[in-house]
Amino acid sequence: MRAVDLIRKKRDSGEHTREEIDFLISNYTQGVIPDYQMASWLMASWLRGLSHAETAALTEAMLHSGEVLDFSSIPGKKVDKHSTGGVGDNASLILAPIVAAGGLTVPMISGRGLGHTGGTLDKLESIPGFNVNLSLDKFRSVLRECGMGLIGQTAEIAPADKKIYALRDATGTVENVGLICASIMSKKLAEGIDVLVLDVKTGSGAFLKDPAVSRFLAALMVDTGERSGTRTAALLTSMDQPLGRFAGNWVEIWESVELLGNRRHPLSEDARELSLVLAGWMIYLGDKAGSAEEGRDLAEARLTDGSGLRIFRQIVEAQGGDVRVLDDPGGFHTPKFRREFLAGRSGYLNRVDCEQVGWAVQRLGAGREHAFDAVAAHAGLEMHVKLGGRVEAGQPMCTMFTDEEARFAEPEQLLSAALTIGDEPETAPALIGEVITREESAGILRNHFQESPLHP
Ligand code: URA
Repeated sequence: MRAVDLIRKKRDSGEHTREEIDFLISNYTQGVIPDYQMASWLMASWLRGLSHAETAALTEAMLHSGEVLDFSSIPGKKVDKHSTGGVGDNASLILAPIVAAGGLTVPMISGRGLGHTGGTLDKLESIPGFNVNLSLDKFRSVLRECGMGLIGQTAEIAPADKKIYALRDATGTVENVGLICASIMSKKLAEGIDVLVLDVKTGSGAFLKDPAVSRFLAALMVDTGERSGTRTAALLTSMDQPLGRFAGNWVEIWESVELLGNRRHPLSEDARELSLVLAGWMIYLGDKAGSAEEGRDLAEARLTDGSGLRIFRQIVEAQGGDVRVLDDPGGFHTPKFRREFLAGRSGYLNRVDCEQVGWAVQRLGAGREHAFDAVAAHAGLEMHVKLGGRVEAGQPMCTMFTDEEARFAEPEQLLSAALTIGDEPETAPALIGEVITREESAGILRNHFQESPLHP
């Protein structure tokens, strides 16, 4: 087999065999197939699409490019949640300690910012000393001690995804259903978990903006998870505006600590609700509640009684972070420069191009332009108004934070194009839409693949 023949085959809309996919992934992981050939195959797949069988084969090949972790020595169910990527999305930070407080183990392996979206690891590293690079032995002992742990993808876990993910980011091949499914599910299934809850974003800030495509991705991931023996459910949620009050690194830790400490803010209510509903599904599928609604109530009880915050502090300490900064997270927020972005007219915030807001956050320094760039802990954005909210001309709509004054210019331009003010208030899309479980996924996939066997 030769890589060039497989590139040609996909370029001409062919369907690969499992052996061909295994050949591509194992040789790329070992460095035999170079980046330029993989990049070319990724673009051909992006343009021509992958079939159901190809997506399953790709997920498995990427999963088995490394180790599948074994946490069977830790009693109880292991549960995790993954989001397809958002702006201001700190739900993982809020829900993981709450679910751990509910008696489940959460071995969370997270990512860094990708494109316009933020990454949990970058947020965690804004806590001084916090170490996301634990050895697997240390990770196991943290899980035993705290009921949760937060690390990055190690060299052992789905190494093929690690290489391919970086290449996709640099070659415009992120937004493809089959590639996203294989990327997310290979690393999640490598965690050796019993339960996975997926937050599939849709709307202007999602990688996949079309709700029908997001629904298809959700069904594909649920099907992939269930086939490998992991109870999986996907919630379709709106990314039509940044989640919560803040988007950035430290600012999202700050907001999570406020919520875990029962200090509610009107602009953080969506982040609170989404975290509780996702936690409810994790608790339900983890057999600690009779329904997702009961799971949500249990999650709220663990939040309001302070046990979620207690575990969050415990995990920060266990992973080397300085817990003192959590006592006054607002006081610890020390960007060198702050600038308000003002409303150009009076009216109602009726549309947010959330992807552009995400790019504004990245350009302020919260994200990276090149794979190994450092990110600024205190760069980011505070929103002062949400969709449907009233603004007066000259009133601040957001505050930007950065360490380099020259960085304000581009985000200002992005924000003025991204935030649309109208005369009458419009209703914002529902935060949480359909929930897809194994029962729904089969029908959705059958319809999609009948219409289009290779799905781009
Ligand atoms: N998140 C992932 O882990 N992979 C993707 O391809 C997109 C979002």
